[in-house]
Amino acid sequence: MQAAKEVCLWPLHEREPDTTWSRGPLVLLGDAGHPMRPHMAQGAAMAIEDAAVLVRCLRAYGAAAGAAYDHYQQTRAERVAQVQKVSSENSWMRTPTDPEWVFSYDALLAPLR
Ligand SMILES: Cc1cc2nc3c(=O)[nH]c(=O)nc-3n(C[C@H](O)[C@H](O)[C@H](O)COP(=O)(O)OP(=O)(O)OC[C@H]3O[C@@H](n4cnc5c(N)ncnc54)[C@H](O)[C@@H]3O)c2cc1C
Repeated sequence: MQAAKEVCLWPLHEREPDTTWSRGPLVLLGDAGHPMRPHMAQGAAMAIEDAAVLVRCLRAYGAAAGAAYDHYQQTRAERVAQVQKVSSENSWMRTPTDPEWVFSYDALLAPLR
């Protein structure tokens, strides 16, 4: 610390799991929709999973925003909220943990809801 020429404080912003990811023609993914603390190192992973599921929903339900966006959020919300919760608690891997629920998720195969 004494050797450092410069020291910064970086605020960590997070939100409660949100219920509104889209409105009209707009839809959010990644940190814009669900910012989280970095303690699971999953923020970018969630953004990439979101993108994959959103593309699948647009293909399955058509590019008309409403239905595709609703299915996208329904498919993603529970998983993202769980990752947000564990990240916020900073409890990931603090005790013996089966990490399968995080790492075995396949955004290309997860059932669309
Ligand atoms: C220190 C740190 C370590 C991390 N480590 C990991 C990790 O190990 N694993 C992991 O999965 N995640 C990690 N994350 C989280 C990860 O970086 C984010 O969750 C991820 O970058 C979110 O991607 P995003 O595309 O949603 O948002 P961003 O990466 O924030 O991209 C948003 C982009 O929009 C641009 N933008 C903003 N406003 C405008 C505007 N008005 N017009 C045009 N462009 C605009 C921004 O410049 C930015 O390029 C870490 C984060 C931090 C801070």
